[in-house]
Amino acid sequence: MAEHENGENLRTVFGPVPSRRLGQSLGIDPLPGGKTCNWNCIYCQLGRTRPLVNERRAYVPVEKILADVRRALGSLEPTEVDWITFVASGETLLHSGMGELILAVKEMAPYPVAVITNGSLLSVPEVRRELLPADAVMPSLDAGQAKLFKKITRHHPDLDFQQHVDGLVAFREQYTGQLWVETMLMRGVNDSEEQLRDLAAVVARIRPDSLHLVSPTRPPVEPWVQPVGDEALARARAILGDVVTILQERPGVFELGEEEDPATAVLDIIVRHPMREDLLREALSHWQEGVVDQVLAELARDPRAQVVERFGCRFWSGSRQIYPDQAPD
Ligand code: SF4
Repeated sequence: MAEHENGENLRTVFGPVPSRRLGQSLGIDPLPGGKTCNWNCIYCQLGRTRPLVNERRAYVPVEKILADVRRALGSLEPTEVDWITFVASGETLLHSGMGELILAVKEMAPYPVAVITNGSLLSVPEVRRELLPADAVMPSLDAGQAKLFKKITRHHPDLDFQQHVDGLVAFREQYTGQLWVETMLMRGVNDSEEQLRDLAAVVARIRPDSLHLVSPTRPPVEPWVQPVGDEALARARAILGDVVTILQERPGVFELGEEEDPATAVLDIIVRHPMREDLLREALSHWQEGVVDQVLAELARDPRAQVVERFGCRFWSGSRQIYPDQAPD
């Protein structure tokens, strides 16, 4: 974790990027020094978690993150941002300064603030308190029983399913903002009728404002993870009820500004959001054909980028992301 030692050169603010739920979202990554997570989800787009980390600390100084946010906001028109979103390269709430960061960002700008988290630390009262000023919190819940939860999240040994659910229930009792729980549905993993009924029972206890159903569109770390089809989504909606919002995205279409160096801009994006090659070409299409090919050739030579194949497509991703088919155990 040496890269976290001072974090001065790491980029903590990115975007605005288009988000399915949040319009144009200015992202803040409080853990930019390499994937830092207490889960190792089978569907993670950031590669495998090595090692699992469950320690809360200031991986990057709060002052450095706030200076980056201030700089980014200073260069944007008010109409260019809808939300400010904390979303880490890993588990957002592992940064111990999150409470301070949320308050400071809300003071700095008039935009609503969202926090994307796996929710694993919501069983800690202090963490719940820190999140109360956020306008929306989006924790994960991919299973309604312990064995499946562990199979999917491959979580740190200090965590467990019951603790996770209890944390979500306790948070809902305190929190008056929007609680949008997110479930990743995967074919043959968590989409059976019985599994969805288990999930529905837990969701009924949590009482989120919405349950967002998603399915993998970016490259899952494990090559056997597959998205669900329309039939499974319809089954899920029938079982889980009106709380469900199905989020289907055309993944990864980004507007890259004319003023940016295209290869650098693409690298900045793919380390956090791997992109399908055809959509990357589309995002670059306002440059001439020759420029697009040149950018892809530059990326192919760049040690910071790699190609990973999933669902029969080529995706561009950061080279630090560990995929088992590229780097077998
Ligand atoms: S999907 Fe999120 S919670 Fe799961 S391993 Fe990746 S970063 Fe961690």
